[in-house]
Amino acid sequence: MDCIFCKIVSGEIPCFKVYEDENALAFLDVAPCADGHTMVIPKKHAGAFVEMTPEEAGNLFEAVNKVSVRLMDKLENVTGLTIGANTYASAGQTVMHTHIHIFPRCEGDGGGTTHSIVNSAVSKDPEYLKKISELLTSENENV
Ligand SMILES: [Zn+2]
Repeated sequence: MDCIFCKIVSGEIPCFKVYEDENALAFLDVAPCADGHTMVIPKKHAGAFVEMTPEEAGNLFEAVNKVSVRLMDKLENVTGLTIGANTYASAGQTVMHTHIHIFPRCEGDGGGTTHSIVNSAVSKDPEYLKKISELLTSENENV
């Protein structure tokens, strides 16, 4: 498979490793948006986050948690983190091997919140929100 992140997992392409366990690998983004900007990926190829099983996603987020604690503990001036995953091209995913970004944050770094990423004009009507809630909590054969 011609996947750059699978090649990083196999060692064919080098990386600046931050953390590794049985299921996940974390390394510095080579085009960082902040000091310590890290990506955490599953070692087993998954095109996007929603293509992983709940167990695989849980294993990935166990690593995300450990890396997050490490970034907070070891990097100076880090007082917060923003954690996120672009999922599929419409959300900005460019490498089709799922990856979780961890951006170390500090006061006054100029970055926004997750609410600044997506700000579509959507209804805030409680009846509409209730309909979405009911749709999402209804039985679904895939979950
Ligand atoms: Zn891959």
